[in-house]
Amino acid sequence: MIQAKGYAAQSPTTDLAPWNFDRREVGPHDVQFDILFCGVCHSDLHQIRNDWFPGIFPMVPGHEIVGRVVKVGNHVKKFKAGDLAATGCLVDSCRTCENCREGLEQYCLNGHSLTYNSTEQDGKTPTYGGYSNTIVVHEDFVLHISDKLDLAAVAPLLCAGITTYSPLRHWKVGKGHKLAVLGLGGLGHMAVKFGVAFGAEVTVLSTSPKKEADAKKLGAHHFVLTSSPEQVAAAKGIFDFILDTVSAEHDFALYLSLLKTNGTHICVGVPSKPSEIPPFSIIVGRKSVAGSSIGGLPETQEMLDFCAANNIVSDIELIDIKDIHKAYDRMLKGDVRYRFVIDMASLQ
Ligand code: NAP
Ligand code: ZN
Ligand code: ZN
Repeated sequence: MIQAKGYAAQSPTTDLAPWNFDRREVGPHDVQFDILFCGVCHSDLHQIRNDWFPGIFPMVPGHEIVGRVVKVGNHVKKFKAGDLAATGCLVDSCRTCENCREGLEQYCLNGHSLTYNSTEQDGKTPTYGGYSNTIVVHEDFVLHISDKLDLAAVAPLLCAGITTYSPLRHWKVGKGHKLAVLGLGGLGHMAVKFGVAFGAEVTVLSTSPKKEADAKKLGAHHFVLTSSPEQVAAAKGIFDFILDTVSAEHDFALYLSLLKTNGTHICVGVPSKPSEIPPFSIIVGRKSVAGSSIGGLPETQEMLDFCAANNIVSDIELIDIKDIHKAYDRMLKGDVRYRFVIDMASLQ
């Protein structure tokens, strides 16, 4: 076994604290890499607090992981010691179902293995995430990253990046489309960058008046403050797509009224309670409500390569791991600019 150290929540009501644990030895197809940076996703906070479902504790969160390879198994072809490496939300899947065979491991029909709060494919060994010093992952679930980009700012691409890239690609959002990004946080700011890069006319819908200048700096063409009835009224019926990244309960009927006829509201945010969708809000105007989950391995690599070619990274605040709860508190208040990333050198 490999001795690893990290920060874990021992229960849904306790804070994260230092915790030592074991990772498996490097198998023939495994890559071990030392973690340099790990992004802080709102899903980390939802899961350590059991917002969605009872979690597996102790829980080491973190699924935006970048680092440097220290060891590879003797069958590994894609990586060697010294390479940069990254892992996102997935560490394994069945590999045989229809979706896995198409590279849609995020929709594995037999149950994928998530990076934490999940189990390996044996169905019993818990997985532990990136708020830790080192990780062992099957090479098929390890991604290549460019050495030309700021490594800390690459980390959030592994979840916030792919979760917004994938639906924008799936629905072919681009030139001629009016895209609204609902919520300017970690996911939202990446959605703005990708939407702009794909040629869409991008509007940020936000509850935070202070984010207007940032939205424009990120490339958004317009900004609508959702607490302003005048601004909301002026945005009625104008969007082809809304990419909804909101982490808390919100009024779907209001946002659906901003879609054009045949418009699509794409949910990626996961509030803890089910949302109410009044039938008339979609019947009138033949609107669709859709959803999307992270992205599969081939598309995640495609997104990382796209970011390297187009010089796209996340806007980050680098933090010490001991300040993780301060970061969570700010995240809950919508005060993220626009992703916290843990400098893993701060893990003692
Ligand atoms: P985040 O950085 O905290 O951003 C969420 C943003 O939502 C906030 O910054 C805020 O933006 C807005 N917001 C918060 N409360 C709101 C409310 N009550 N009404 C309206 N807007 C509100 O979170 P994140 O890391 O981007 O994650 C967002 C959500 O996506 C989380 O639920 C997370 O679990 C989920 N997620 C899903 C996937 C997937 O595969 N589908 C992957 C990753 C994350 P403004 O200040 O601009 O209003
Ligand atoms: Zn995430
Ligand atoms: Zn599968």
